[in-house]
Amino acid sequence: MIIHYSQLQTYLICPRKWMYAYWQRIAPDVQRDYFVFGTVFHEVIQYVLVNGLESEEPWPVSNSITYIDRSGEVQIVENPEAVTREWAQQWLLSWNMAVGFTLDNKSVVGTEIEVHVPADNWMLVGKIDAILEYPGGQRMIVDHKGCNSLPSPGYHMHADLQGSLYCLLAMKNELIETPWFVYHYYKRKVPPKPKLLKDGKLSTSRNQGTDKIRFFQAVEEYGLDIQDYADFYASLPDQNMVATFQSQRTQEQLNEATWTLFKTMDEIIETTKQLEAIGVEPGVNAPVPNMAGVIRIVRRDCSTSCIYKSICEAELMGWDSRPCRERFTVVPERYRLEESEGD
Ligand code: SF4
Repeated sequence: MIIHYSQLQTYLICPRKWMYAYWQRIAPDVQRDYFVFGTVFHEVIQYVLVNGLESEEPWPVSNSITYIDRSGEVQIVENPEAVTREWAQQWLLSWNMAVGFTLDNKSVVGTEIEVHVPADNWMLVGKIDAILEYPGGQRMIVDHKGCNSLPSPGYHMHADLQGSLYCLLAMKNELIETPWFVYHYYKRKVPPKPKLLKDGKLSTSRNQGTDKIRFFQAVEEYGLDIQDYADFYASLPDQNMVATFQSQRTQEQLNEATWTLFKTMDEIIETTKQLEAIGVEPGVNAPVPNMAGVIRIVRRDCSTSCIYKSICEAELMGWDSRPCRERFTVVPERYRLEESEGD
């Protein structure tokens, strides 16, 4: 059985969500803004890292972009090249400021690198956004993230699984020697300009907005000049902002990630057996009976932004979910065994 990292992550958030997304493989007809934004953003950054901003190569995003905004309206971006070039410029600017990486001193080891970890009856596949090498040979794994709200720096410094797992995957595949991982966040909707107190510190009053406080706390934490970031922030033309968090991983974190990986993979395999036993077929958009026997598919942490909420609630209540499923279609599998075996 092949599992890619995002499946693992989804299963850990909610096994039921995993079932809709990766077993039934259903997705809304028109994607939400954050999903479309994240996909486009990855393509653009990959292009910039490989070719540079001034390249003559065709820009990766040329067709209009359609998405559903937060109010549920369908929006269309007619000239995505202009919009996404602006994103790329801002990304580069923030990146240079945060980690001293410029297109002049870059050495891109690779982008969209697929790495595998095989075990007895499963294989984990991960796709690393980029591995960069600095003059002097130090390598870092980079993960780009488009988001609606920035996470707390503490979360990413110490507690995330993705950073540790990607380090493990890259080390196992001899792509890096030391586990160094960087998240680069790009957030479209910025809060208002931050309020700096007379002593140069941030106001942490709640009405300043948690995103703004977190972003500038991260800047402070890395010993960067708050005022530089305030100027940078003020110069952003189109309500965009970015933040970077980077950290080394300890052996303890890597051990914990390995343990979680093995445990979760076993759980996923057990869940697929249970689904098969009650006749829930893979790749079919059909109601799932809310049977007590499916013990591993339970609500662990419910998110109000979950795209499957209407279907899930109907099924947990024992109602007919078919009307809710009409807006959803089955999407193709991302990985097939033959493809991975041939790599
Ligand atoms: S609505 Fe909640 S319980 Fe249901 S699939 Fe989504 S996250 Fe899981």
